[in-house]
Amino acid sequence: MILKLLLIGFVIYVVYFMFFKKKKQYSKTEETNTKKSEPVNELIQCPTCGVYVETEEAILSGATYYCSSECISKAS
Ligand SMILES: [Zn+2]
Repeated sequence: MILKLLLIGFVIYVVYFMFFKKKKQYSKTEETNTKKSEPVNELIQCPTCGVYVETEEAILSGATYYCSSECISKAS
């Protein structure tokens, strides 16, 4: 009877530990995703015409964002 209680207690402990670990891991992944999606809404200035555009709508050329392909050809 005592052995059975110990076994149940151990199972509860293992389940609780696994759940706690999983929850911690999930929140960490969620934090990474939030951090990752942050630069998408960032406003950048086009170095050619000076217009502010969202990085989502901007065109990336090398390491610089431009508002349009026209500005890329003007810059090079
Ligand atoms: Zn531009």
